Amino acid sequence: MEPIYIPHLAKAPESTQSVLIEQFLTHLDTLTPVRGKVVVRHRGNFLEVFGQAETIITLTCDRCLQQYNHKLGIKTSEIIWLDPAVNAPDTGPLERETPMEDLVEKLDPQGHFAPDTWIYEQLCLATPPRKLCDNQCPGVKLESEAGSKTTVDRRWQALEAFKRQLTN
Ligand SMILES: [Zn+2]
Repeated sequence: MEPIYIPHLAKAPESTQSVLIEQFLTHLDTLTPVRGKVVVRHRGNFLEVFGQAETIITLTCDRCLQQYNHKLGIKTSEIIWLDPAVNAPDTGPLERETPMEDLVEKLDPQGHFAPDTWIYEQLCLATPPRKLCDNQCPGVKLESEAGSKTTVDRRWQALEAFKRQLTN
């Protein structure tokens, strides 16, 4: 997907560009293509970005360690400040307090805005920090059947081998 050149966006009708997304994103492992839309509007000294997208990702349950599919959807907006100093070399001291303005997104007004990267970041933020296949998930099942020997811990396998040596 082509990034949007910000000076061109300023000259676009209503200073706005819409981008439809229907693709797999490079760094996001999803079962289905990411489908959605990003609308970016040039507002002089900032960009106003609206986006909505959905996809399905495979997560691993924190409790039972089983994989499950999770529908990930976002509908969000963000202000990105256009700051010519954003790419200037940083000559400040190494350690200092971070002013609030450093915590917001900034882009060079002569630079590019990448809708797919933006959607990728929003989807990452929307990924649940606590992953449960089900709210009622009982957790890891303790194996009690004899069949569980095939999945025995490797340290126990070493012990078994040692015991066999002793008895031979
Ligand atoms: Zn689970």
